[in-house]
Amino acid sequence: MDLGIKGRRAIICASSKGLGRACAMQLASEGVHVTMTARGAEALKQAADEIRKANPGVTVTEVVGDITTPEGRADVLKACPDPDILINNAGGPPPGDFRNWTRDDWIKALDANMLTPIELIKATVDGMMARKFGRIVNITSAAVKAPIEILGLSNGARAGLTGFVAGIARKTVINNVTINGLLPGPFNTDRLRGTAKGEADKRGLPVDQILAERAKLNPAGRFGDADEFGQACAFLCGAKAGFITGQNLLMDGGAFPGTL
Ligand code: NAP
Repeated sequence: MDLGIKGRRAIICASSKGLGRACAMQLASEGVHVTMTARGAEALKQAADEIRKANPGVTVTEVVGDITTPEGRADVLKACPDPDILINNAGGPPPGDFRNWTRDDWIKALDANMLTPIELIKATVDGMMARKFGRIVNITSAAVKAPIEILGLSNGARAGLTGFVAGIARKTVINNVTINGLLPGPFNTDRLRGTAKGEADKRGLPVDQILAERAKLNPAGRFGDADEFGQACAFLCGAKAGFITGQNLLMDGGAFPGTL
């Protein structure tokens, strides 16, 4: 299926690995020129080279930096000042007990998972509206729909972003600019393997056993594959997806038990 976005320009934040990388790969395979960011230069170059090799017709630009800082955002906007597509993403906050979280911990989580996407939307949405095409996808979490107690920093920050977007997504669509959330459940990425390792160390078990136990708990009997996530993201960015806005698409293999 041709998504009709060949030649468009996209910023994909936090995209050297995992879900962000998969979104960059899928968009590039649709002929979109991609600007990718991450803090670590080596992994970013590796991911960018792989995407270039698989998609020789597109321009792949690497921007090394921390997207949660004003400098990191300025650098990516300098490299791609007028994107047609913006994929907001950053690392997730650490788990813990809310009694131990300081104001600084909260500000850090809000900066990464709420205020950074809002700043990037603010910097790009008016240009998209003027050009009558824009697709913004915020990578959030299944925890927006079903909060996970130990991920309170994530629950709070991402819920704030989701509430903000619900308001403006109904204002931008008049100019063919959509804003949606894509909510990952368990996907097999470094992030998921990192949390499994924490549990494995605590329980004195091999990490593979923890991963197998967790995968079995999902109705699909497995974790999501990052490519599946990238494909859903690319679909939401497609020319024909202009009537979908303000939505939060859960990708969790059916783990959330509700009807809606
Ligand atoms: P991942 O595999 O650990 O990849 C994270 C990517 O983001 C890396 O490329 C990392 O590169 C980059 N990154 C992290 N912080 C950054 C920053 N401040 N500035 C720029 N780049 C940054 O993680 P993932 O699984 O793809 O997760 C992506 C998001 O989805 C996270 O917010 C995560 O909490 C959320 N999520 C994931 C799952 C899951 O099962 N995988 C489930 C629910 C929610 P550098 O470290 O080099 O910067």
